[in-house]
Amino acid sequence: MTQTDDIKQRIDLVDLVQGYVKLNQAGTNWKARCPFHNEKTPSFMVSREKQIWHCFGCGRGGDAFSFIQEIEGMDFPETLRFLAERAGVELTRDDPKLRTQKTLAFDVNAFAAKVYNRILLEHEKAQPARDYCARRELSPETIETWQLGYAPES
Ligand code: ZN
Repeated sequence: MTQTDDIKQRIDLVDLVQGYVKLNQAGTNWKARCPFHNEKTPSFMVSREKQIWHCFGCGRGGDAFSFIQEIEGMDFPETLRFLAERAGVELTRDDPKLRTQKTLAFDVNAFAAKVYNRILLEHEKAQPARDYCARRELSPETIETWQLGYAPES
């Protein structure tokens, strides 16, 4: 089973879509006004049984992945990460599909944030910065939560 299939099995498309669009049950399907085109009467349908969505107005449709790609404006690797997190599936790091320019940039950025955050919290050279934070009433928990960082001269 691929990671994509594993994720799909753990996510319910109706629940996922409900996070963005208010769906009403119509027989075995769920329907709403389409989030991707302007309409007065609902032609956007979601099937829980088949785990697919389709809009009879604009013709868009697909699965959980295509829905998130469309509604969040994400590319495939971003969507894969987004849904993996939601599904509690750990992605294999060497999956080439995950290595795009954009996701690499996010990783580098997250790593840098962690480094400067650790420096602020623990490095001896960051004492003046910690004193400053204390004067501003920023607790270590806040610094951790918001990943505040400090870059020493060196
Ligand atoms: Zn539509």
